[in-house]
Amino acid sequence: MSENLYEKFAAELEDGIEMGAKISSGDQDIKYGIELWRNRLNKKNLGVAYDIVPRGLLSDSTNSREWKDEHYSNKMYHRSCRLNKSVYYEGKKIYSDGDNKIMYQTVTDVLNDVHVDEDYYCCPNCGANVKIAELVEGCPYCGTFFKMDELYPKVSNYYFISDIGETGDELKSEIWKTIWPMVAIFSVVFTTVFRFRNNNPSNSLLLSAIPGIFGGLFFGCILGYVLWVYKKLGKLFKEAGKSIVLLTNTAGSNKKFENCMKKYSPEFSFEYFQSKVVSMIRVIVFSDNPEDLPFYTGDGINGCFDDIIDMDFRGALALRSIKEENGKICAYADAYMINAYVKNGKIKRKEEKINVVLERKTDIPIDYGFSIKKIQCPGCAGSFDATKNRICPYCNNSYDIEDMDWIVKSIKVIK
Ligand SMILES: [Zn+2]
Ligand SMILES: [Zn+2]
Repeated sequence: MSENLYEKFAAELEDGIEMGAKISSGDQDIKYGIELWRNRLNKKNLGVAYDIVPRGLLSDSTNSREWKDEHYSNKMYHRSCRLNKSVYYEGKKIYSDGDNKIMYQTVTDVLNDVHVDEDYYCCPNCGANVKIAELVEGCPYCGTFFKMDELYPKVSNYYFISDIGETGDELKSEIWKTIWPMVAIFSVVFTTVFRFRNNNPSNSLLLSAIPGIFGGLFFGCILGYVLWVYKKLGKLFKEAGKSIVLLTNTAGSNKKFENCMKKYSPEFSFEYFQSKVVSMIRVIVFSDNPEDLPFYTGDGINGCFDDIIDMDFRGALALRSIKEENGKICAYADAYMINAYVKNGKIKRKEEKINVVLERKTDIPIDYGFSIKKIQCPGCAGSFDATKNRICPYCNNSYDIEDMDWIVKSIKVIK
């Protein structure tokens, strides 16, 4: 089932990014992040298209990473693919790139087998019986909004990282591309040498070309192959250098996190924290009014993320420090990203870190069952989606959802 979800998500993601189609296999955070991202693009008359072409096979249960806590099971699937990205300005292509990548997806499910999406729930406002899966976007009859748990299984995180491995066919064609020009050059050189050397009285082109081509093939293949190995090693070292930087920076993050959080509940996993942080960063960066987000309490951002039009998480989050103080856990973390900026109609991609300070109350109760709660503004009794925007659209009062998970206290880009 989860394997199918992987393929479904990859397909839905393409249509979701390009056309705003519904991504039913992704969780609320992913969906909201993409909605805001498209909103940012629309404002700049830009469009982004992802074309994900599978290359290798999907990882199976033997080579997929899996982790569980008391409540959820998570499985990380991966598959090599070719990711072609295009950016359009007013419908005209202004940027494209294509790279071999490994697409990672985390599929999250509940362990207690509570799959309630097909169940009916009686809307406390209008009394209509509505399928819970439909209530996610508010009651279709009266527009009441609810704060509810995720309807699992869902893809809760995804990212692409560079894939330097190649399939057999790709390797063959790449080696041949380096070898054949060498063979051609050597053949011409040898033929010329044989033809005009002193003891060749006839100067016959044919008689010189035969040994010339043999010599060209022999030396061209050897030199071409050496050249290819040299190029390949250079690329490998470059990529390895980058991975080492990421590895040394993220080493120990997992342990640090679990050592601190274990006291409160075994429920907390670093992987969950990581995907939560990346989702929140995406939402804050692409939001028009990050100050109104229910999980952001920092200073005004003053449009400093306005030129970011795409963000790639590089699969690494470094936890700098985590400690408890006055009933609150405070964490400092750096997320490694590749951000695409638009400036004067040109797209520039930069490797950057996003530094965030996070906070979470230690006494937030953990709810093991599925929970659903009507959202009603205490000021005017209006209902709106306060999980996305804390400001009531009817009376402008601020509505704070209790039991908020992690909150972002500050965010900045480190170049
Ligand atoms: Zn209703
Ligand atoms: Zn209100």
